[in-house]
Amino acid sequence: MPVLLSQTNATVDAAIIGGGVIGLAIARALRQRGMRDMIVIDKSDFGREASWAAGGILAPQVEADAADDFFRLACKSRDLYPQFAAELKAETGVDVELDTTGTLYVGFSDQDETEFRERFEWQRSEGLTVECLDGNEARRLEPCLSDKVCCALRFPKDYQVDNRKLVQALLIANERLGVTLLSGCEARSLKIENDRVVGIDTSRGLIETNMVVVAAGAWSSRIDSPKQLAEIDVEPVRGQMLCFEAKPQLARHVIFSSRGYLIPRHDYRLLAGSTTEHVGFDKRVTDEAIAVLKDMAVEISPAMQHLPLIDSWAGFRPKAKDGWPVLGQSGEIDGLIYATGHYRNGILLAPITGDSIADVIVEAARPLLLAAFSPDRFLQQTNHPERQPALSRAGF
Ligand SMILES: Cc1cc2nc3c(=O)[nH]c(=O)nc-3n(C[C@H](O)[C@H](O)[C@H](O)COP(=O)(O)OP(=O)(O)OC[C@H]3O[C@@H](n4cnc5c(N)ncnc54)[C@H](O)[C@@H]3O)c2cc1C
Repeated sequence: MPVLLSQTNATVDAAIIGGGVIGLAIARALRQRGMRDMIVIDKSDFGREASWAAGGILAPQVEADAADDFFRLACKSRDLYPQFAAELKAETGVDVELDTTGTLYVGFSDQDETEFRERFEWQRSEGLTVECLDGNEARRLEPCLSDKVCCALRFPKDYQVDNRKLVQALLIANERLGVTLLSGCEARSLKIENDRVVGIDTSRGLIETNMVVVAAGAWSSRIDSPKQLAEIDVEPVRGQMLCFEAKPQLARHVIFSSRGYLIPRHDYRLLAGSTTEHVGFDKRVTDEAIAVLKDMAVEISPAMQHLPLIDSWAGFRPKAKDGWPVLGQSGEIDGLIYATGHYRNGILLAPITGDSIADVIVEAARPLLLAAFSPDRFLQQTNHPERQPALSRAGF
């Protein structure tokens, strides 16, 4: 469990605001690069927000229709996962259950078939691994699929991980590395003097530091700070999730349709997600969402009809104004680093975010891979058109 400090005022080399997968991945990577005196603060318990609510799908290819900067970042992070998971197992003993069976995207209509054919063609031409199947071939892989499934794409390299175990592993890894983890400590405002960060005012007192990482997920823009953080305008996008018991497990792949997805877990839980709702910080699970998600699940596999619903929850995806992550050093304030706005893909992007933000801090690097995600894009334009992030139709 996180270390609970009783002291309030403190001086550290770096402070990270937010202890979800993003803040914890950065802290671990910083410590591994030799940064010693660090603190991660969380307003409540570590890893209990979006990182807990997520599905853990690591699937950049499944809905992507172009190899843009986001796609490249997502693929790079996915490809880091086997090593990331193995290292975490060695450091902590926690198996994050990286499942490499792959992802299936199933279709029910001629329109789906046309869309799949185009996605198959461009991904093959880019040298990506993807398979095009008819309904019977898909049912041979997953006999639970509906007779109405007429086509499918299989992405053998799009994986899944148990995100709750990932949170647990990252917490233990940071504890063992000696990172100070302070729960119940809310960052209220950034202290800035002469365009340089000098500390954070928190609910537990002042933290003096010249390096602050904002990794506060959907709450990032609520921290009182310079103009830029407000401009980035991170908002919460609610996602509701259902959890069924499937004994024996119904499927092996993560299965998508255009309306949602099913995620079979090793412990016989079967998750069905998700909704995309702009309702502020309202964490309720609604009857309407339960009905919609059940319909989606039964359309993919009629056997879902008979599975007991054993749990449900909701969480807040952190979405920046233009829908892309915000990663890197502020050009406005020295010592202020952003690692937020991961929206639908924060679990997928955790390894690359940890590594590249740590490089930015320790080596003053400016990784090319992060160029498109710079916080300064919000200073340069007044109008920020929404980019269509990959993986969006099915309510990731
Ligand atoms: C239903 C759902 C399904 C999803 N499925 C997937 C998926 O399959 N694959 C995928 O890659 N991504 C998925 N996501 C997205 C993913 O969960 C997020 O992008 C990711 O968890 C963001 O991580 P984070 O650490 O930035 O945010 P969080 O996990 O929300 O952590 C932010 C932390 O900051 C703390 N905090 C906030 N404000 C303050 C403050 N002022 N002071 C101190 N602490 C503060 C919070 O308490 C919280 O613990 C899903 C999200 C949802 C909701």
